[in-house]
Amino acid sequence: METKDVILELRTKKRLSQEELAEKVFVTRQAVSRWENGETIPNIETLKLLSTFFDVSINTLLGSPQQLVCKCCGMKLEDSNISKETNGDFNEEYCKWCYSDGDYTLDFWKQYIKIGGIEKFDEFKKQLIDEFNVLLEIEGLPKVEKLNVLSGSFINLEYRLPNGNKIKFLNDKASYLGSQLELEGLDRCIGIAANMEFLLISSYEADGKNPELVVYKKR
Ligand SMILES: [Zn+2]
Repeated sequence: METKDVILELRTKKRLSQEELAEKVFVTRQAVSRWENGETIPNIETLKLLSTFFDVSINTLLGSPQQLVCKCCGMKLEDSNISKETNGDFNEEYCKWCYSDGDYTLDFWKQYIKIGGIEKFDEFKKQLIDEFNVLLEIEGLPKVEKLNVLSGSFINLEYRLPNGNKIKFLNDKASYLGSQLELEGLDRCIGIAANMEFLLISSYEADGKNPELVVYKKR
């Protein structure tokens, strides 16, 4: 879709006249009309205002010329998973799991940006995969091939200790690298999660029920 159609569609969805939209983003009605006729496209400042007002990324306003990808985890970005700055502006470089509240959620990603960026980070991921596969092999479990960025709030299961106490190992607000491995013929899954400090392997039933800790290892 071209910018002119995108703006027309967003405006109509909000049931605004050209005049009303013009007021919201401090331009004339004629300017809106020219965008929608395809004669001009909004300048960058106005694109920012339109992005905030319609809650869509600038990439979407421009007719999605690029397939945006999170620079940290490689996830494809859509308006629904693009990160935002604290002021509400889209940050079209990262997904919302890797970057939120104006900062990276992954401490290790922050460090890797400083020492060499995505290539160093990929090396780190490979390193973690190797370490996991050694542990998984010892436990007689399938190998892992790929790690994703996972939000602590999704995977922070509560494990029951032999003495009856319950314990969580993760931080809801942090992100981890991890994955889920299916066990053929069994109704339990294997979940793995790691950061720079530790590796964790657990098993659980559907929806994380009855979780059991298999391995927790400091790196
Ligand atoms: Zn990401």
